Amino acid sequence: MSEERSLNFIEEIIENDLNSGKYKTLITRFPPEPNGYLHIGHAKAICLNFGLTKKYGGYTNLRFDDTNPVTEKTEYVDSQQADIKWLGFEWKNELYTSDYFETLYQFAVKLIQDGLAYVDHSTAEEIAQAKGTPTEPGKDSIYRSRSIEENLDLFTRMKNGEFPDGACILRAKIDMAHTNMLMRDPIIYRIKHADHHRTGSTWCIYPMYDFAHGQSDSIESITHSLCTLEYVSHRELYDWFIEKLEIFPSHQYEFARLNLTYTVMSKRKLLQLVNEGHVSGWNDPRMPTISGLRRRGYTAASIREFCERIGIAKRENLIELSLLEFCVREDLNKTANRVMAVMDPIKMIITNYNQDSEILIGENNPEAEDKGGQREIPFSKELWIEREDFMEEPAKKWFRLAPGAMVRLKFAYIVKCEDFKKDENGNITEIYCTYFPDSKSGEDTSGINVKGTIHWVSAMHAKTAEIRNYDRLFTVESPDSEEGDFKDYLNPDSVEVIENAYIEPYLAEANAETGYQFIRKGYYTLDSDSTAEKLVFNRTVSLKDAWAKGKK
Ligand code: ATP
Ligand code: MG
Repeated sequence: MSEERSLNFIEEIIENDLNSGKYKTLITRFPPEPNGYLHIGHAKAICLNFGLTKKYGGYTNLRFDDTNPVTEKTEYVDSQQADIKWLGFEWKNELYTSDYFETLYQFAVKLIQDGLAYVDHSTAEEIAQAKGTPTEPGKDSIYRSRSIEENLDLFTRMKNGEFPDGACILRAKIDMAHTNMLMRDPIIYRIKHADHHRTGSTWCIYPMYDFAHGQSDSIESITHSLCTLEYVSHRELYDWFIEKLEIFPSHQYEFARLNLTYTVMSKRKLLQLVNEGHVSGWNDPRMPTISGLRRRGYTAASIREFCERIGIAKRENLIELSLLEFCVREDLNKTANRVMAVMDPIKMIITNYNQDSEILIGENNPEAEDKGGQREIPFSKELWIEREDFMEEPAKKWFRLAPGAMVRLKFAYIVKCEDFKKDENGNITEIYCTYFPDSKSGEDTSGINVKGTIHWVSAMHAKTAEIRNYDRLFTVESPDSEEGDFKDYLNPDSVEVIENAYIEPYLAEANAETGYQFIRKGYYTLDSDSTAEKLVFNRTVSLKDAWAKGKK
């Protein structure tokens, strides 16, 4: 985190409020609805809410906003908690809006008693029609003038399950001509005969978002309730309920949501991708979910750094996916050991190598403080190299292998290509080289200068692995704003699977969530599909941004 950056507008508000003594303790909350896995947009809100109380003291609650029994599941609660912890944050209290159902019910009763809410039997269409437009006032419902007693009785009967779904609703009685459409007698309770993931069948009426959110903030004495810009017009209603109920004055502040290129970011849409089998699950490494990014090899530090870099603004914008990739590349560059894997193998035979094999020593990471320590790399007479590192008829400025050309084998010796063999189809099958015994890396006395260095794996020591190279999930920057369905823009080539790559034996001990740089190829991490018999690696990110240069 760069300490020098100027305060964002929310930090300015908070510093003023703390300095003026308006609040003694800063209390924020992160309020996910448990209807899906958290995504990178949520990471922004998590870093903001938890980051503020880390900086200014106070604490952050985790509140599951579970007012819709139909879409919410305990699986989602569990995954959301795991993701927040993994990102490196700790909440003070684990809370559920459903814990407040009784209190919220009593709040609604108070509004009725104060003549500020009524039960309405109009149909959804009638209500929509009577709502008016931004330029025309709405019309009062015929049920608006019911007596307090009648409303109390009807609301009790709604609660007792005497009415089917949709038969009636409870509405706040505000102003059907209000300039803010949300203030035109908004719905605050609806009937839903459905089992809730926590309260089971105790309730058959559920509060609407606007009636639950601000009051829950208030119950928890949240000082600064931070939400995204879509809620600007809800703030007036948020304040109205708090004022009429005479409860703790929480305040809502809005910031721009994160929009990222080449992806979609609503849980509802991500759920479609999962349910329709476009991805293997919520944690598919191509998903913008926190669990997907984690499986892909993203580090928590790189996601926090990304959120810090994009900052907090009051205007919507679209952030380049390449910035997220840049952040993980920077982090892994400092932490990932450099290892060798050959993805499109061709055999190289060193004709003058007269031992069986030897152990060479490689530095793990020249960018790390202690160079990341060292490891043993076996070398032998037969190696695998990348097919693309040999050219029968070399192009200009070709510094890799070609007949008669010399190249350094990383961590090992300089070799010279003497000959090669082709099969009946003209494909090169073997390359024959000689090596210079006095050119060993680190103790080279050969005096030979070569421009190219290539990676390799000893054939007799190599392990095989499946490699999954990922690309963007969508072919267009904003699948949400294109014509038609967002799924029409899925990238059919979002994953390339290499079934049998050769990797150095050191990687047999690889751990999931440890990043490795496959030299010249990219950053990789072990996938959770790996078994003892079959290792699988995910490409987290390429070494360079191929798209930025229009190479792709
Ligand atoms: P989704 O449509 O993905 O379900 P949501 O806003 O409905 O998003 P919630 O679970 O209700 O999801 O959100 C929890 C918190 O995360 C809210 O405070 C919300 O403002 C914030 N949040 C959600 N998406 C983003 C985003 N793209 N950028 C920043 N904050 C976000
Ligand atoms: Mg939501």
